[in-house]
Amino acid sequence: MATLDLTPVSEWGFFTLPRPMVIAGPCSAESEEQVLRTAAGLKAEGIHVFRAGIWKPRTHPGCFEGIGVPGLKWLQKVKNEYGLKVATEVASERHVFECLKYGVDMVWIGARTTANPFLVQEIADALKDTDIPVLVKNPVNPDLDLWIGALERLNRAGVKKLGVIHRGFSSSQKTNYRNEPGWNIAIELRTRFPELPFFADPSHMGGARAYVQEISQRALDLGLEGLMVESHCDPASALSDSKQQLVPEDLGKMLANLTVRDNDSDSVEYREGIDQLRAQIDVIDETLLHMFKQRMEVSRKIGTYKRDHNIAIVQASRWDTILSNMVEHGREYGLSEKFLSEVFNAIHEESVAIQNEILSAAPEEKK
Ligand code: PEP
Ligand code: MN
Repeated sequence: MATLDLTPVSEWGFFTLPRPMVIAGPCSAESEEQVLRTAAGLKAEGIHVFRAGIWKPRTHPGCFEGIGVPGLKWLQKVKNEYGLKVATEVASERHVFECLKYGVDMVWIGARTTANPFLVQEIADALKDTDIPVLVKNPVNPDLDLWIGALERLNRAGVKKLGVIHRGFSSSQKTNYRNEPGWNIAIELRTRFPELPFFADPSHMGGARAYVQEISQRALDLGLEGLMVESHCDPASALSDSKQQLVPEDLGKMLANLTVRDNDSDSVEYREGIDQLRAQIDVIDETLLHMFKQRMEVSRKIGTYKRDHNIAIVQASRWDTILSNMVEHGREYGLSEKFLSEVFNAIHEESVAIQNEILSAAPEEKK
């Protein structure tokens, strides 16, 4: 089991507690004026850490792929003129060296890069003997081990100021959100490494301004302590991710509307704990529902298949084998036989009912 040697986020000198720790700024640095105007607006809203993409990984060629090195000078101005810490995305050794040269305070690894161990290793090697914090976004695909592997590579290279950003996962199933939240994966990571500073990125998860508030609230309810939010002084003119960026004033309002539980008294601490656990249960129950739906869809297909091949619905011996396998497996997880037989028998009954419905609804379709 991987372990990480971490410097507590309270020692980074970046964020003022209490939660949430906020990183905000435009998707991309586009011009000096846009960067400075946005930074000024964010400073006025109490933000201390400014983000802006300098090199942008775009899906299609020909889109704005980032301003490159000239933008690092604008970030220096944000540092010197407004006293904000500045952060950008790195995807190669060259990016790391340029960032170090221009005094970038913190870097993050983007979702597409986390999915590539060669690049993560190259970045980790380039960061050896430096002390800047590194945040690792989840890989685009829902693979927790790949995410943890990236953290291990950085940690082995001596990066101890490490954190993560959950930005959701690509999915072939279209939902309202741009990237599927997959909160259960975030919860698992949180459980494995409770000390790892954990940010959510509601902008890339939601893909639209309208979702930023609800996703941010969900993240806080789950006990995540930070947010990375995209903000632009004029989102309509943004060269990337224009639909999901908030003007600084709206970001300030969004943050003010979040319910952040304080933990300065025993009972508040208790409430916070229970709310986080309940939020985790809600996510798990939603996952169960989704799994039930998928299971019943497969049962329906089996029903049609059996009907078309003139096979009886119930093959008792097959069900006995499934049930005893489940009970045996479940015992290893500490789940009782009574509980498992009740749950699986209920699932089986429902599958049989669905298949019966198929047989009786369309008897003449077969011939
Ligand atoms: C970004 O933060 O602008 C970005 C490209 O994000 P992601 O790596 O999450 O797609
Ligand atoms: Mn973006």
